[in-house]
Amino acid sequence: MERAHLLFPWSALDRPDSLVVDGAEGSWFWDTEGRRYLDFASQFVHVNIGHQHPRVIQAIKEQADRLCTVSPALSVELRARAAELIAQQAPDGLDRVFFTNGGAEAVEHAVRMARTVTGRPKVLSAYRSYHGATNTAMQLTGDPRRWPNDNGTAGVSHFFGPYLYRSHFHATDEEQECERALSHLAEVIAFEGPDTLAAVVLEPVVGTPGILVPPDGYLAGVRELCDRHGILLVADEVMCGFGRTGAWFAVDHWGVRPDLMTFAKGVNSGYVPLGGVLLSDRVAEHFAHRPYPGGLTYAGHPLACAAAVGAVTAMREEKVVENAALLGTEVLGPGLRELAERHPSIGEVRGLGVFWALELVRDRATREPFVALGQGPAGTPLAELEQECRRRGLWPFVNGSRMHVMPPCTATGDEIREGLAVLDKSLSVLDRHTRR
Ligand code: PLP
Repeated sequence: MERAHLLFPWSALDRPDSLVVDGAEGSWFWDTEGRRYLDFASQFVHVNIGHQHPRVIQAIKEQADRLCTVSPALSVELRARAAELIAQQAPDGLDRVFFTNGGAEAVEHAVRMARTVTGRPKVLSAYRSYHGATNTAMQLTGDPRRWPNDNGTAGVSHFFGPYLYRSHFHATDEEQECERALSHLAEVIAFEGPDTLAAVVLEPVVGTPGILVPPDGYLAGVRELCDRHGILLVADEVMCGFGRTGAWFAVDHWGVRPDLMTFAKGVNSGYVPLGGVLLSDRVAEHFAHRPYPGGLTYAGHPLACAAAVGAVTAMREEKVVENAALLGTEVLGPGLRELAERHPSIGEVRGLGVFWALELVRDRATREPFVALGQGPAGTPLAELEQECRRRGLWPFVNGSRMHVMPPCTATGDEIREGLAVLDKSLSVLDRHTRR
């Protein structure tokens, strides 16, 4: 039926068949042939609370029995409760939520808000970023997924963020990388014309294009540049938010407060689609008496908001974010670094919480990647690695010349150790392709 009737995202019709998923629980899912997989990708990095969490399911069921759908212009209690809970976890001063159905729409609306509030047309975003697959979000995206969609009309320019392992600034340490990345951004702002810029949009910890953790001082520096020029700072926390980095939001690690903050994925772990934008008081004030020019039929859907209330409440009470932080410092971080000592194909290990990347290289000295920019894993040694992990019951996430390690925030130490043992065995496939 799939072959006859479906077009899959990012795929041609002749894509290879995928496995058929039959069920899931916690950190595991299984297919119709009974093969079980330890989910080291949290699906699309969204199942932060783990699969089939009973409290989220219960919250959806109760709301379904009561009221499945309602116009976004009418009030429903759980929508307000979801907004309140989200605002309570967000940095101070981000107290108001505009709901969407997912991450790209959240980015789309954050940019529209920034343009409306500032009256300026253009937006800056980073190379090595992903912001979603709708038009503006796609134009913001600073990786090869933009190329087939780039019509050059979105009013977006790009800059390089910090990435010491492949420094664009010939830096040799984090401090230098931070300083040079900030002076590069200052120069881009100057040449674009500060008065034309509505917003800088960035992922506080960059997700799919590499799990790039910024050096201390970088986000504060961007904040300062934005303030100097009246530019709004939009933090895209769609992937790095809601516990992924071991904090409720990635910006919490550095105490930086954006003007707008987007979220989706982990807010309710995608049990029902939900995203949104958190507005700072200053941005919200703009719409005190002027209507915001935008909205969506399903925004703040009762079932999605019920799932968010269930998920955030359970995350608080079960200390899920604390668990993610601990897994990062006690198990994943040390475990992955230990793998790097044994496997010459690992060039660098970096990450936070349950958000890690192994930078995979043919040659540690030259840092030559296995996969060129814009190339998929097919036909490269990374496809072999992916296959080997799956064969051994681990569901991996391979992107570019990297493997990302992103289990649910609820995983146990034993599950992580089990996954690391599979990685240890599987990486030998890649080591054979290295020049030691
Ligand atoms: N922003 C970031 C940082 C993301 O990682 C993603 C998706 O992976 C998006 C936006 C788009 O979210 P969605 O796929 O829900 O539209």
